[in-house]
Formats: sequence, structure tokens, C-alpha cells
Amino acid sequence: MKDSYYHKGLRKKLVASLKAKGIQDEKVLAAINSIPRHFFLDNAFAELAYEDQALPIGSEQTISQPYTVAFQTELLEINKGEKVLEIGTGSGYQACILSALGAEVHSLERQENLYLKTSAFLHQMGMTQIRTYLGDGHEGLLRKAPFNKILVTAAADKMPETLKEQLTIGGVLVVPIGEKTQAMYRIVRLSETEFYAQVYGQFQFVPFQKGIEVRK
Ligand code: SAH
Repeated sequence: MKDSYYHKGLRKKLVASLKAKGIQDEKVLAAINSIPRHFFLDNAFAELAYEDQALPIGSEQTISQPYTVAFQTELLEINKGEKVLEIGTGSGYQACILSALGAEVHSLERQENLYLKTSAFLHQMGMTQIRTYLGDGHEGLLRKAPFNKILVTAAADKMPETLKEQLTIGGVLVVPIGEKTQAMYRIVRLSETEFYAQVYGQFQFVPFQKGIEVRK
């Protein structure tokens, strides 16, 4: 796949539109500018890769809207070298954005077919530093915990308490919660037992489902 000047131009425009919509963190904008989103889509959707919209990636899942990716990433306030758990690998796009910011990325997916396809794709792209796992995000990833940051990219129906327990002190969890639309929660772990929550506007995600789904 090629990242042409045409694609680079479209990406610059997308970044400018994200800025106009309120994304301020220059490092996040630079990360979005550095990752060719059309690589993560089937040819049929590649034309739309730089529109600010969610798109199908197969298995009834979507690559999140660029604004949503930027908003969640901005809330995480990633510093270089931080250990980050992403829940919902999907296409692998968000994982690449986190990696571009210098995070040590661990990404969990519940659908075996997406897990296999995206793991192979990330390898092929040379993103071998991103670690992918098949598992149910409700359980987190205890064997790699604690994490400085945890990002959920599917809609939870309630606060995932297990994930809060896998944060370092000072760690941040970003999770969309709600049924038809979701509010974005940013939780900071203040101590072993205390957490601080901030809530942001409305978003729309695919559901955070229970259990893993093996390939048919
Ligand atoms: N971050 C992705 C967006 C994926 S959409 C990207 O950049 O493309 C949400 C993903 O979460 C889907 O792939 C879905 O299969 C996955 N998912 C849903 N429930 C999950 C769970 N309990 N554990 C892990 N992944 C889950």
C-alpha cells in the first residue's frame, strides 16, 4: 500500500478539521498526521479514510471516527514510555496512534478473526512493538498490570471496576459509558482506594461485549 502526496494532503486537511473541532494537543495531532488511516481500511472504503467518520472494518465492527480517536487520546495525556492497555484492537489504528506517541502498547480484542487479521497486519506494517492479545476486556490484562493508562474503545453499560484496579496510582482510565449514546469518563486513580472522575460529551461506539468469540 502507498502513502501518496494525495493521501498526505487529505490527512493534513483532516488534522486541520480536528483542530477546528477543538482538539488542541499538538502531539496528538502530529500522531494522527503520521499514520495513514487508509492502510487500515478495505479498498472499498479507502476513499473515505480522511473523512471524519467511523467506517466498517468487518466482523460488524468499526474503526472509530478520527475526532473520537483524537478526543480519547487527548484525555489519556500519554507520556513516552508509559504502559498502555487498549481494549478493542479492531483495525489496529488507535493502537498505532498510541505507539506513535511513544507508549508501550498492549491491545486486547475479543473477536478471534479480528485479533488474527490485525495482529498479522500490524506485523506486516512493521509495528512489531505493539503487543496484541485475544481476551475479554472486562477482565483487563492482569499479567501485564498495572498500566499507566487504559483506553476502552467500545461502549460499556457500566463502570468497568476491574479495569480501575489495574491502573497505577496516578493512572488514567478513559471509557465511554451508556446505551444508545455514551458519555466519556476520564477516571484518575488517586490512591489504592480513591478515584476522581470527569465526564465529557456524547459519543457513539459499538458495544463492549462479554466473552471472546472464536473464529468460525
Ligand atoms: N480501537 C479500534 C476501534 C474498534 S471498535 C480501532 O482503532 O479500529 C471496538 C472493538 O472492540 C471491536 O473490534 C470489538 O470487537 C472490540 N470489543 C468489544 N467488546 C470487547 C471486549 N469485551 N474485549 C475486547 N474487545 C472488545
